[in-house]
Amino acid sequence: MKRFKIAVIPGDGIGTEVINEGIKVLKKIEELESSISFEFKTFPWGCEYYLKTGKMMDDNGMEILKNFDAIYLGAVGFPGVPDHISLWDLLLKIRKGFDQYINIRPVKLLKGAPCPLKDVKREDIDMLFIRENSEGEYAGAGDWLFKDKPNEVVLQTGVFSRKGTERVIRYAYEIARKEGKTLTSISKANALNYSMVFWDEVFKEVGKEYPDVKTYSYLVDAAAMFMVKDPKRFEVVVTSNLFGDILTDLGAAIAGGMGLAAGANLNPEKKFPSMFEPIHGSAPDIAGKEISNPLASIWSVSQMMDFFGYEDWGKKILDAIEELLIDGKTLTPDLGGIAKTSEIGKAINKILEKK
Ligand code: ATP
Ligand code: MG
Repeated sequence: MKRFKIAVIPGDGIGTEVINEGIKVLKKIEELESSISFEFKTFPWGCEYYLKTGKMMDDNGMEILKNFDAIYLGAVGFPGVPDHISLWDLLLKIRKGFDQYINIRPVKLLKGAPCPLKDVKREDIDMLFIRENSEGEYAGAGDWLFKDKPNEVVLQTGVFSRKGTERVIRYAYEIARKEGKTLTSISKANALNYSMVFWDEVFKEVGKEYPDVKTYSYLVDAAAMFMVKDPKRFEVVVTSNLFGDILTDLGAAIAGGMGLAAGANLNPEKKFPSMFEPIHGSAPDIAGKEISNPLASIWSVSQMMDFFGYEDWGKKILDAIEELLIDGKTLTPDLGGIAKTSEIGKAINKILEKK
């Protein structure tokens, strides 16, 4: 029997709604699969906690989380709490503190999911984004050089270390090799004449160890255009923190919307826990109305099962989501349905029971 300890951080807004549905699915897996059991512990951290205590998470939060196999996050963010606080004091603190240097975001248009693109075949949108998740443009490095108006000068520095760049690129090559897919690197060496020149160089260098993997390189602006005009060009994609952040939101838009976009923050060595979350935010505009779509959150459970080594369950969950979409009867309003958030986990479980 394998026992996995999961720290649950529902967070704020719709995070607290969608996460319940993912937990329902995990409990169903536990019921159907005799070799797995889960131990859940929920933490009340997030912006509401901040408004009460002045802290996004307890001071010993990272010490506590360290003992878990995975962190399952809803979303954080709340009007009245500056975004940089909610981001840096919880999400980025965990990502950086636990060296979750790989961010995996599938951009896959499932059957039955809506797509705004015309003239594109459904199967053409099937990409796996591997985003650098620990440094780059989000390293937090910079300075406010001059503060006197109107002469203010502000610096925001991208940090690209040899170690940080090589490890994410190598990880992407490994995935491309394992899956027999092409690998595309997205950068911007023409304008970012230090960091991205370096990135491209490392991509080429590491590629020498993977002569069997077919590679492409795109500038980020061109990549954004082709993701819309000709998405079949992209299979496995590796890119920097900032570009990955932006392009995967574009990816979400062409692959069913924010309600279907999942993300895994991995520490591949399993030295620290990895974190699984929907990529959407707390969405205060729809919070509390029971209309948020939990499928992204459930998709991230599929990623969690893959990471735990139960790829069969990862696939079953994804297939169940696709079946639900094709059936079309139990969908939330963002997908054109009338179902409540809390009905979705139940519907997915019903499908899982038959698998
Ligand atoms: P952040 O500030 O972290 O980007 P956000 O709260 O602005 O978060 P987004 O994730 O950017 O939220 O989502 C933008 C909008 O898309 C939301 O305001 C909401 O209307 C819609 N949306 C996002 N996620 C979902 C979901 N799971 N179900 C339904 N609608 C969603
Ligand atoms: Mg947003």
